[in-house]
Amino acid sequence: MTLRLLAFSLFFTALPAFAQVVADPPLDAAAPELTPESTRLVEPPVTAPEPPAQVPLQIDIDPPKRWGLVIHGGAGVLEKDKMTPEKDAAIRAALKAALDAGGKVLASGGSATDAVEAAIVILEDDPHFNAGRGAVLAADGSIALDAAIMDGSDRKAGAVAGVHIAKNPIRAAHRVMTDSPHVLLTGMGADDFVKEKGLETADQKGWFETPERLRKWEEWRKEQFSGVDVERKFGTVGAVARDMEGHVAAGTSTGGLTGKKWGRVGDSPLIGAGTYADDRSCAVSATGDGEYFIRVGVAHEICARVRLSGEKIVPAARAVLDETKALGGEGGVIVLTPDGQMGWSFNTPGMYRGGKDSTGRERVAIYGDE
Ligand code: ASP
Repeated sequence: MTLRLLAFSLFFTALPAFAQVVADPPLDAAAPELTPESTRLVEPPVTAPEPPAQVPLQIDIDPPKRWGLVIHGGAGVLEKDKMTPEKDAAIRAALKAALDAGGKVLASGGSATDAVEAAIVILEDDPHFNAGRGAVLAADGSIALDAAIMDGSDRKAGAVAGVHIAKNPIRAAHRVMTDSPHVLLTGMGADDFVKEKGLETADQKGWFETPERLRKWEEWRKEQFSGVDVERKFGTVGAVARDMEGHVAAGTSTGGLTGKKWGRVGDSPLIGAGTYADDRSCAVSATGDGEYFIRVGVAHEICARVRLSGEKIVPAARAVLDETKALGGEGGVIVLTPDGQMGWSFNTPGMYRGGKDSTGRERVAIYGDE
């Protein structure tokens, strides 16, 4: 193992399982020093030669521009002995691809909202996750998708719930934010918006539905239980990002719960419940038992604790998840602040998750003990 890899793995393994935080070094760490040489006066010679061409002095007084990105692909009963090596590898590759896509946007000076969208699109297109392609089936066998995005710089937000045709619901949510006077569009209206804005559409059977999700739905139909995910594997996807301007954003996308009825909407597209971003505090994307996350207002509650009491993100997230669990709800969150804290917390056995930043750190993980 190279020294760099060793240092990297020591850094992360030293963190406690179920609640880990990645903290950036101080922003002014690279500030250059003025030396006596740079200010010394030199006597001119009697016959002054032509002065040499000037080398302009440049001192960058701004802190280095830095960015960060954290993603999740759902929390739940994710245990090593129930996972095949192929699936484990495919999930990790998808998480890495999402980090790369979002990281590319941020590294080239793009906005946190664009990075969140880019990362989530990769996960929506991957059938392993319960979002976009591969989303779970509702009670009537249809696929109804929810997504939200929020910009922490001005707290603008956009969301769709129960949309059926948007190939990438996060893009639809983003357009609601930028191209409509509203925050949340639902059902047929959201589908109309997608068509009207010329967003890419996809077929229920031809694109969204996968044999694996159909099989789960058939199992669900036999059992006829509702309100909980069949496998307690949530599979919702989300991202939080900080761009080089220091702004944060959050986004979440999901198919909700297998067998959901009556136009059920979970926490993911609800601003303040599953998704929230505010430059004054942090950005949060959640995954878990939506009904409980709505009741607690998980994402906003974490941001409020950080803003009003100055709490660090992991204790704040843990306190809010404990409160949610006391009511009966489980799940996890990813959190990131404008001042460089990045982290996650979950109270399920595992959570698909990853993080990457401009200092070169990158990590993906699945199980609680890694
Ligand atoms: N929170 C989502 C919902 O309730 C489910 C999930 O996280 O997978 O719709």
